[in-house]
Amino acid sequence: MNMQNTPFNLAQCIEHAGKYFSHQKVITRKVEDDTLHEITYAEVLGRVRQLANALQKLGVKQGDRVGTIALNTYRHLEAWYAISGQGAVCHTINPRLSPAQMIYIINHAEDRFIFVDHIFWPLIEKLHPQFPKVEGYIVLTDKEHMPTTAHDVKLYCYEELIKDESTEFTWPEFDENSGSSLCYTSGTTGNPKGVMYTHKSNLLHSYAAGSTDGFGINSMDTILVVVPLFHANSWGISYLGPMVGANLIFPGKRMDGVAIFEVIDKYKATSAAGVPTVWTNLLDFADKEGRKMESLRDVVVGGSAAPPWMFTAFREKHDAELLHAWGMTETSPLGTMNRSIPQLDNLPAEEKAKIRMKQGRPVFGIDIKIVDEEGNELPRDGEAVGHLLVKGNWVVHTYFGADKPAVNADGWFDTGDMASIDRFGYMEIVDRSKDLIKSGGEWISSVDMENLAMGHPEVLMAAAIALPHKKWGERPLLVVIPKEGQNPTKEGIKEHLKSEFADWQIPNDIVFVKEIPMTATGKFSKLTLRDQFKDFYAEAE
Ligand code: ADP
Repeated sequence: MNMQNTPFNLAQCIEHAGKYFSHQKVITRKVEDDTLHEITYAEVLGRVRQLANALQKLGVKQGDRVGTIALNTYRHLEAWYAISGQGAVCHTINPRLSPAQMIYIINHAEDRFIFVDHIFWPLIEKLHPQFPKVEGYIVLTDKEHMPTTAHDVKLYCYEELIKDESTEFTWPEFDENSGSSLCYTSGTTGNPKGVMYTHKSNLLHSYAAGSTDGFGINSMDTILVVVPLFHANSWGISYLGPMVGANLIFPGKRMDGVAIFEVIDKYKATSAAGVPTVWTNLLDFADKEGRKMESLRDVVVGGSAAPPWMFTAFREKHDAELLHAWGMTETSPLGTMNRSIPQLDNLPAEEKAKIRMKQGRPVFGIDIKIVDEEGNELPRDGEAVGHLLVKGNWVVHTYFGADKPAVNADGWFDTGDMASIDRFGYMEIVDRSKDLIKSGGEWISSVDMENLAMGHPEVLMAAAIALPHKKWGERPLLVVIPKEGQNPTKEGIKEHLKSEFADWQIPNDIVFVKEIPMTATGKFSKLTLRDQFKDFYAEAE
């Protein structure tokens, strides 16, 4: 053997942080009382090892699935490392899933134990009789906040469970291709599908995501982790943060503008990552209060398309750069990231700005291409739009428990997104293929329409959906939440849309609402909206 060959184990991230960044911190808005809590990486490491010892005593074995139904907190992070580090699989479960989906995935994963925030216990307790394989629950809280149960099931208090355990633990060595973590897609169509990440895939992903052209962070940074630990690995930040020794801020259950602004300000966050809706609320709050986020350098946004006004707002009002990233559960999730390259410097400012708003270029380790219906590759000219395919060592090959691969014969995974790729390699998502609005044989991008509508000064949020229409097959409807105290008119918004859309693309109607239904991952739930408005154009000519 020429070189050493220690198999990757995710516990190495927290071991490194505890040893070499011992004073750096994990800050949490506690779920119990919304107060702010600080703990160092050295302390986290000790507690991770205590928990690993406790889990062994409970009989957790390599390969076992252990679930978590929890928000972003230091305890949830500790559970991640203790579970995966000893060779079990950390199955993150989105607490906002419907009961039916939760029952499906917990049974499909065959979770033996589940870590749960005390606030979700009442919900889980009701569902418990439908989880025949679950042997016990560990409530991520202290003695004081411990719930009780009427069921004949083991309920452990997290702090009590670990308190007498040793802070020493020897991580076992096993194949780095073993499953470390399991995350189900939200299953907007059909049953949710599980993606089983491995120690190797997660670590490779973290190296790439942590590179300068990825999140570009180091121990000088404090990162606000809005993106949930329960969804797509918190975009890898919970591994790469400890790897590079960055401070982490976990916002607990408070995602509102006031609370998010407070932690950014108080802890001088330099970087933040989350979906666009969170930033909309944050920017709205900062605007109303006339306050600036002084410390922020960059904000990574993904999960759905960030509207153009958001890039300008962060840059002009907060001197922060909004970085567009694209990915999905199936890609761990980082696929592309929008960073600049030298060639863009020769372009006119307006063209460069447009390119910088696209979803970005693949990070090293990922390849992308677009193809037509027959699978023929389309040109990288920024014009052609096709099905986006992706390949890489942190992209799904076969869904958990599935009998056939999710990739084609050449190993490419079809993302279900429609996109273009320009001559510089920047990819732009046009739409999810199922959200495209197909009117009279032509299509309209719901993403473009929403982006433009959300640039209207009186509009807070807007979702464009396709509704069945007798004559045209489908026609667009725009659902709008006005900004507080504003009364935009349908005509005004239509005029605004005409600046970029042809007359035939303009929505037949616009409805004003107070709320838009969201998916469990914080995106507009177009499925619910389409259902809610399904007969809206039934009589329309
Ligand atoms: P869910 O299906 O619950 O939304 P995923 O996180 O796996 O879960 O969703 C991935 C999808 O989100 C992508 O296929 C794409 O359609 C969309 N998406 C992710 N990032 C972006 C982005 N920056 N811009 C537009 N769409 C995005």
